[in-house]
Amino acid sequence: MQDFSWHCPYCDRSATITSSNFSGKFHVVDKNSKDEKIALHTSLITCPNSDCKEYTISAQLFLWRWLGNDWGPEGEPLLKWSLKPQSESKQFPDYIPQAITSDYEEACLIRDLSPKASATLSRRCLQGMIRDFFNVKEKTLFHEINAIKEKVDPLTWDAIDAVRSIGNIGAHMEKDINLIIDVDSNEAGLLIGLIESLIQDWYVARFERQQRLQTIVGVAEKKKAEKSQ
Ligand SMILES: [Zn+2]
Repeated sequence: MQDFSWHCPYCDRSATITSSNFSGKFHVVDKNSKDEKIALHTSLITCPNSDCKEYTISAQLFLWRWLGNDWGPEGEPLLKWSLKPQSESKQFPDYIPQAITSDYEEACLIRDLSPKASATLSRRCLQGMIRDFFNVKEKTLFHEINAIKEKVDPLTWDAIDAVRSIGNIGAHMEKDINLIIDVDSNEAGLLIGLIESLIQDWYVARFERQQRLQTIVGVAEKKKAEKSQ
């Protein structure tokens, strides 16, 4: 096998995976199914970081076809499953409001199974974040996004604007967030990626900034106290 780079969902670090950390196998089935020959590929990756060593398991279903010189998987997988962990959701710290992390985690969990339900949860999550973080409440998510334009940095704005201009996501922004819209799992994934990035940029950055400033204040006060002694 060829080495490849990979990101561990458990310790959130990147690593290069070689044959000593990877196992993958095809289970080929030829039992008169409507798709003729099919193959289930299962794979396991162990995180090489010595203080992690967690492992992930995933499976993909392929059509098994004659490829000219040998039998093999044809095209993109028909289905794919993340078995461990069950979704690709990131683990965010406890100080992020629970309503936001639970919508986010559920959106990740059903992304491939039901992209439209996932996108609905993501839009609700996005609205929850804007209302909570910026104290903004407008008629629709579309108006709420417009209301924070001057409050977010231009790069963040570009990302939000890019996601809301995608096909059905954009077309329905002006409607109720609970309206279920047809999107594919890639589009649902873009919304999830945007939420991850906003949680990081808004909540995590704010918390870390507060920690840094508190440390500075603490050190300064200690110095002051020492001087006045
Ligand atoms: Zn790891």
